[in-house]
Amino acid sequence: MMKRCKECSSEMVISREAYRYNESGLPNVVLKDVEIRRCPNCGTQEVPLPRVAELHRAIAVVLVHKSARLLGPEVRYLRKYMGWSGVDFASRMGVNPETVSRWENDKEVISSQSDRLLRLIVARGWPVEDYSVDDLTKIDDRKDPPPVEVELRVRDRRWQSAA
Ligand SMILES: [Zn+2]
Repeated sequence: MMKRCKECSSEMVISREAYRYNESGLPNVVLKDVEIRRCPNCGTQEVPLPRVAELHRAIAVVLVHKSARLLGPEVRYLRKYMGWSGVDFASRMGVNPETVSRWENDKEVISSQSDRLLRLIVARGWPVEDYSVDDLTKIDDRKDPPPVEVELRVRDRRWQSAA
């Protein structure tokens, strides 16, 4: 199928190549065998990526499974993947927004707890059935919290909160 350049209407040359996906904000994501269209006349390049939502999910899954701690751009990617602002993310992690900014700019190493929590949230997916991640903003960090009241009953063959 012939494609014409949007800028100069010349016929685009189509090839399949590895493409470094810098638009992800990550420095080392390479997409193999993707279609790249180049205009031989004016140099315009188009990379029509298929199934972008699925692609972004696949990148997130790789980050969640890496064994080394998350680096700044990876933290930023996962935060944006979840659709959170810096303030949203900070309140869920129980830190202030300046801390998030330092993590994302590699000025401070993300805490191991926040690293794990972020991975778990991403791995679990959004939205989570019966448990909103918004609940994480309600976690009380005070020193001597009262013990939680747990009341459960079997309903529809499942243990469920009786509250
Ligand atoms: Zn052109």
